[in-house]
Amino acid sequence: MGRLFGTDGVRGVLNKELTPELALRLGLAIGSFFQEGSRILLGRDARSGGDMLARIVAGALTAAGVRVYDAGLTPTPALQYIVKNDGFDGGVMITASHNPREYNGIKVIAADGIEIPRDKEREIEEIFFQQRYRRVDWRSLSHETRPYPGVNEKYVYAVISHVDKELISRRGFKVLIDPANSVGALTSPWVAKLLGAKPITLNGHLDPWFPGRNPEPTPDTLTDTAKAVKALGADLGIAHDGDADRAIIIDDMGRVQWGDRTAALLTRFLAEKHPDLPRRVYTAISSSIVVEEVLREHGIKVVWMKVGSVDISRRLAAEGGLAGFEENGGFMYPLHHPVRDGAMTLALMLQLMAEEKTPLSQLYDQLPQYHLIKTKIPMTRDKALKVVEKVKEAFRGAGEMITIDGVRVNAEDYWFLVRPSGTEPLLRIMLEAKTREKAEALLAKIKSIAEEVLRE
Ligand code: MG
Repeated sequence: MGRLFGTDGVRGVLNKELTPELALRLGLAIGSFFQEGSRILLGRDARSGGDMLARIVAGALTAAGVRVYDAGLTPTPALQYIVKNDGFDGGVMITASHNPREYNGIKVIAADGIEIPRDKEREIEEIFFQQRYRRVDWRSLSHETRPYPGVNEKYVYAVISHVDKELISRRGFKVLIDPANSVGALTSPWVAKLLGAKPITLNGHLDPWFPGRNPEPTPDTLTDTAKAVKALGADLGIAHDGDADRAIIIDDMGRVQWGDRTAALLTRFLAEKHPDLPRRVYTAISSSIVVEEVLREHGIKVVWMKVGSVDISRRLAAEGGLAGFEENGGFMYPLHHPVRDGAMTLALMLQLMAEEKTPLSQLYDQLPQYHLIKTKIPMTRDKALKVVEKVKEAFRGAGEMITIDGVRVNAEDYWFLVRPSGTEPLLRIMLEAKTREKAEALLAKIKSIAEEVLRE
């Protein structure tokens, strides 16, 4: 049977891969997956085609006997929060998250506010491919899609309820917010303002063409944003992806900081604030060893997991801990909800800055410094798996070896991860070492193993 769902929902180029026909059939399958009479909250980000897809999906859900409530334009974490807290049976979010401009997507949220797990996606795929749609009696089709206003407002107030408004307000921080011309613009500046900060937005108007920048926040896409942070003398810069579940921080020196470094600071801070929470943090094996170096001293255990935020959310929710995160800027604060949340990350950073009374750049500079290399080599999945096996042999005994997703080695003065991409014919290599020379030598060694496999 074919697959529809990728690592986070169904994504495709609008009107080429993600067509109205596909959205209709997927909507019927999602509607049939939920119980008849279920209440489903529907939302979308500012991408092109969002309104079109939302209407098609709403109609298809109704045809399958599901009652649809429309949240309108909203960040994914806001929809997730309201699904759980207002007692919905589930949610559907029209978004392609950080993907390039021409993409859109559809993802399904469970009643607990977390993206549905893999086995539930399989159930929807089975209904889809076998076309086993539930089509309800005409009497049940009288439910009209109802607007469900106030989602963003309720969410914003929930976010700020977790921090000390008075304390943060006293500092009067200047905050530059770059929501990538999408729905983060509806909530993050509001959060900053309610916390007594001075929000300045860049790419702050909603625009489905994303004229300001690519929706994925990375050091490459945030060069203008980083310059603006420094030029305006902001205390903090924050950049979201298209649906505002990611937050990448830019410090007051205009340096873009990867999410794992931010997470190390936040988790250490949360451990002091909440001694009652289990001293555990969950992250994907693509995160830096810096996390472990920093947190070990505070008795916090790092649980390494496969790449993919949904599994991290589900494990954090089931077992409890201080946080879950990914290096790409997804940070989960379980006392709010155990999913990635861009505006919550903003509020927590402001709280941290208000208490530490140290410029953000200095806080980041206190973290161990590594030289980072991220690269990829095109090859089939079979070849990539062979490279992984050979790397395991070559580095046996070099350090702690983790093999849940490719191979990761944590050694004295370096770490690396070599894994086949989950979505493309690529070998992904990520490594950090204390010096540039060491990093380059490591890369050369791994590359030579890959070349050997490619010659076979
Ligand atoms: Mg996202």
